[in-house]
Amino acid sequence: MYKILIVDDSRSIRALLEEIISSSIENIKVSSVPSAQAALEYMANHDVELILLDIYMPVMDGFEFARILKEDERYCQIPVIFITASSNTDEFIQKGFDLGAIDYIKKPFDEVILVNKIRSYVKLFKQERELKKAYTLIYKILSHMDNLICIISNEEIVQANETFLRFFGFANLEALQKKHSKVSDFFVLEEDALNNEISNEKLIEHLLRNQKKDTKIKLYDQSLQEEKTFILKISSLHKDKKGEYILSLTDITETERLKKSYQLQAILDPLTKIYNRQAFNDKYPKEFYYAKTKDKELRLLMADIDHFKKINDTYGHQIGDYVLKEFCKIINLLIPNNYFFARWGGEEFIIIAQDDTLENVMHYAQKIRKAVEDFEFLHVGKVTVSLGVASLRKEDEENSFLARVDEALYKAKQEGRNRVVNL
Ligand code: GH3
Ligand code: MG
Ligand code: MG
Repeated sequence: MYKILIVDDSRSIRALLEEIISSSIENIKVSSVPSAQAALEYMANHDVELILLDIYMPVMDGFEFARILKEDERYCQIPVIFITASSNTDEFIQKGFDLGAIDYIKKPFDEVILVNKIRSYVKLFKQERELKKAYTLIYKILSHMDNLICIISNEEIVQANETFLRFFGFANLEALQKKHSKVSDFFVLEEDALNNEISNEKLIEHLLRNQKKDTKIKLYDQSLQEEKTFILKISSLHKDKKGEYILSLTDITETERLKKSYQLQAILDPLTKIYNRQAFNDKYPKEFYYAKTKDKELRLLMADIDHFKKINDTYGHQIGDYVLKEFCKIINLLIPNNYFFARWGGEEFIIIAQDDTLENVMHYAQKIRKAVEDFEFLHVGKVTVSLGVASLRKEDEENSFLARVDEALYKAKQEGRNRVVNL
């Protein structure tokens, strides 16, 4: 039902208008009141979607009433059509338009014009009402999504959902627009990421060009006070691919964290938390190839705890585990950061020393040997370690190089353990 209110002091005109309109237009509810005051009272309790307003009325005339409507935010959106006498001048009619009227009809009424005018307006307003409803619904849906969503043009951030506004700490869209016209203002600066100078136009271009790839960006969550990782996706609001675009930002912080932790788990030894054999197998060929092609020095150290089986047999497996962990801590504290330290297996460990002199590497090997020898292991007391050191030679292959460090270690064991042998 579309609700029309007639405001006219003449009883006969009210009756006539009501009769004409309700008999010729469907789905319409026509009510009428004899004065502006009565109209305000009526409107306080009823919805009104179109007002037909007489100009000459006692106490408060139509112009005065129109002004009141215009200044009241509850009523300023309601369309008003003036009813004027045909003798009225153009200036008189202009005054009505200035006060916000959308049209006028003349007395005495031409029934055909009257009915068709009102029918057209009702149709138009109904469509408008449906559009508004649809828009409100879409906005509600967008606002309740977890994704940060905004609509951007080359020049500005046109719209943003609640999640977006809350994330960046803005009470409403206007507050956001006052400070920001480009989305990149919110990007956290990082190497290899989109920088925060990039204009909306360039960002749109970039995202359209890279739609198949994930564009990741870090943003600072104002409510949680922490950085989050997002994937950016763009789609055009219009068919012609120009103008406004919907930008959707999906939080992948947790997924990224899990991915990293799985990646790390796959290459870390669970007991000692140093790299495992798999990590070594990934790293070693790369270092070997690099040293070979760039003619750099490369050395391997292999360490094996002496008589470790006895520790297990005497004190139990758990104490054995403790010795392994403590042993790794000692080594980690001693070796330079750029050395690569991994568990080869059991109580054997391997270190890759990139681009370092033999003197330095031997120095670290001896330091490790000495530090282990000096350490008081709980329950166990003294433990020693044997180490082999090998330097890359011109004729070496990956396997021959590895075999030589193994041989050096074997020799250290043969020669009485608790020593370093270089081959
Ligand atoms: P050597 O001086 O010749 O190296 O003698 P060893 O006893 O240290 O060497 P051996 O290879 O005979 O024994 C190594 C032992 O290490 C056997 C195995 O049960 C034990 N081991 C391997 N991995 C672990 C582990 O993760 N925890 C514990 N507690 N023991 C382990
Ligand atoms: Mg051993
Ligand atoms: Mg062994």
